[in-house]
Amino acid sequence: MTQSSRTSAVQVLLPIPFKDGFDYLPSGGEVRGARVLVPFGKSHRIGVVWGSGPATCDPEHLRPVARRLDASPLFAEEDRRLLATVARYYHRGLGETVFTALPAVLRKKSDVAARITRWSLIPGASLPERPGTRQRLLIALLSEGSKTSAELKEEGISGDVLRRGEAQGWLTREAEQASPLRRCTPTTTPPVLTDEQQAAWKTLESNTNGFQPSLLFGDTGSGKTEIYMRAMEAVLNRGGQVLLLVPEIGLTPQMLRRLQNRLDGRLAVLHSGLTDHERALAWLAAARGEADVVVGTRSAVFVPLPRLQLIIVDEEHDASYKQQDGIRYHGRDVALIRAKQRQIPIVLGSATPSLETWIQAVEGRYHLLRLKQRPTGAPPPRWIFVDLRTTPHRRRLALPVIDVVRQTLERDEQVLVFLNRRGYAPAVMCTACGWLANCDRCDARMTLHQGQHRLICHHCDKHSRLPEACPSCGSLMLEPVGEGTEQMEQVLAEQLQPYPVVRIDRDSTRRKGSMEKALEPVRQGRPVVLVGTQMLAKGHHFPKVTLVVIVDADGMLFSADFRAPERGMQQLIQVAGRAGREMSAGRVLVQSFHTDHPWFSLLSDLHYEQVLAALMEERRPLGWPPFGHLALLRWESPKLESLQRCSSPLRRCAEAWSSDKVQCLGPVPSPMHKRQGRFRQQMLLVASDRKALHHCLDRWVDYFLNHEEGRTIARQLRWSIDVDPQEMS
Ligand code: ADP
Ligand code: ZN
Ligand code: ZN
Repeated sequence: MTQSSRTSAVQVLLPIPFKDGFDYLPSGGEVRGARVLVPFGKSHRIGVVWGSGPATCDPEHLRPVARRLDASPLFAEEDRRLLATVARYYHRGLGETVFTALPAVLRKKSDVAARITRWSLIPGASLPERPGTRQRLLIALLSEGSKTSAELKEEGISGDVLRRGEAQGWLTREAEQASPLRRCTPTTTPPVLTDEQQAAWKTLESNTNGFQPSLLFGDTGSGKTEIYMRAMEAVLNRGGQVLLLVPEIGLTPQMLRRLQNRLDGRLAVLHSGLTDHERALAWLAAARGEADVVVGTRSAVFVPLPRLQLIIVDEEHDASYKQQDGIRYHGRDVALIRAKQRQIPIVLGSATPSLETWIQAVEGRYHLLRLKQRPTGAPPPRWIFVDLRTTPHRRRLALPVIDVVRQTLERDEQVLVFLNRRGYAPAVMCTACGWLANCDRCDARMTLHQGQHRLICHHCDKHSRLPEACPSCGSLMLEPVGEGTEQMEQVLAEQLQPYPVVRIDRDSTRRKGSMEKALEPVRQGRPVVLVGTQMLAKGHHFPKVTLVVIVDADGMLFSADFRAPERGMQQLIQVAGRAGREMSAGRVLVQSFHTDHPWFSLLSDLHYEQVLAALMEERRPLGWPPFGHLALLRWESPKLESLQRCSSPLRRCAEAWSSDKVQCLGPVPSPMHKRQGRFRQQMLLVASDRKALHHCLDRWVDYFLNHEEGRTIARQLRWSIDVDPQEMS
């Protein structure tokens, strides 16, 4: 036996791409799943202890662990198992996967200060005589009891408002050892379930043991959330923990309030609006088992939950569940892996299920729970198609549509105008010579943002001044081409005076709380026009909106990406779901140059099953998901020559490693060939068999990490793997 195999080492994970771990000499008491400080190069780094065993390298070179950081493990055995599976599935290193799962503070700092700030009204202090809107809201919120900075921020209260209140002497803060958890207390009485809800609930109620996936398929307003809450209650009564995943912008104060007024337990919230510190505190509370319910976006799927008994994925079809850089995991798919490993039920909810989920339900592997009616009795929206070929329109708005909008406002109702393009215009052109303002770092046009007097590239965020004259011919005839939300806002405001127009998109809501503020007149129920992007299509509940206008349905359905029709139909239905949620029937006006297209006739009777069937028939003959499996290999470099030089060896590998089960197609230039100053190429792997796909990807990774030729390529290009890609660009 050699010396090295007798020396025992601890295996420590570090956030280094494609590495599984580094050996260190134990200094005693290392705990698996806990963090340590280790020497690395000339400095020290935080690592996570993963295992121990005989040293794999010369013990002479081993250095000892410097210090223990956690007394008990952050990741229990079942969490470690999940992370190991995720690393394998997405073909990445264990170290980077585990660090992706850790909140930022725990990656960088040895411990987390346990204090947070809590605000309350000073009893007996005199309140401002003429409070502003924000102040009024603040006072109303605090008269229910004290609130943390994070909770107030969520309601749109800024630090300025708080400091002013403090200076005026009616507001006080305490830094307390407080828990990041929110107390839920049931104050609302659950409604009597409809027959459909009852049937769905009966299935869930009886499936408490083992891996039991269910698709809860029901239109917006059909009572899915009500079913989630029943299932959550039952788990809380049994002493379990629930994980509720929601899409990026689906986590609204409305949704949280609903949970808090209904459930009995402690709630932790995890989303991107929190500070790193708040996030770490909530994460730790969940991991210690102190939170009963965790509500969070994508990355919350990794939060350790020792008593986990149920996972719910709301709007399971939503694209924001897919991480688009680093480890490109899909939150829903990781949730499924997790539920299977833990042998617990999982509920996937949607009004427009993804094909990946639908096929599982149709083939009987998931329970299909269908809700068709709205329990409030609100009738489904009525679809009306406006043929832009035969209807007079200006700046993309049909003149009769504007009349209908005005009539709706005159009835004291609200209108939502949907256009998924922010900015004033998606391009600027010289009408004398045809010059177009392009981004010099991307294969893309610059978007005109009139409000900021700027051209902005939506792919790399490059900003530039709007030129006064054409840089190519000197003409002054520069004109916007096409329409964005900013322009819609302007056109509608001109046409619909004196009614207010509120724009909701990434630009108008950049500042924290500005969304809630902008929506105030909408909540007050005044006749208002809302204009916006997909930000409006999710999570929000606008009871007084009775008319929805889809400005550009064609842009939503017809594009090169094979998922475009699926995405487009989902989006149309989600937006339509915002209309007429209370008593009155909603109408949806869809503007298109292709009103006779079959997709639109499917919308009219709104049997999403038929939409799904049509999408399936489109994909089946091509062997595309969900009938086959895809992975995308991407390469990029600022130098085009580097890409070209590597093309032929990559092509040779592709030919050698293709089989009847996996085809490696490429390399070809990516649909957007240049992006953020880098040229891009990609290779699509289409597989009929998932195992074969993983085997082929293993070969590719091995090539880049371990083979002479592959390593040379990897030094010249940045490469990445995307398993189950959602974007093909
Ligand atoms: P979804 O999550 O599918 O959009 P919700 O659960 O939010 O649907 O339900 C829509 C509306 O109907 C909500 O206002 C909810 O309180 C109400 N609701 C749900 N179930 C019932 C029921 N069984 N009886 C009466 N109202 C209900
Ligand atoms: Zn010109
Ligand atoms: Zn750009």
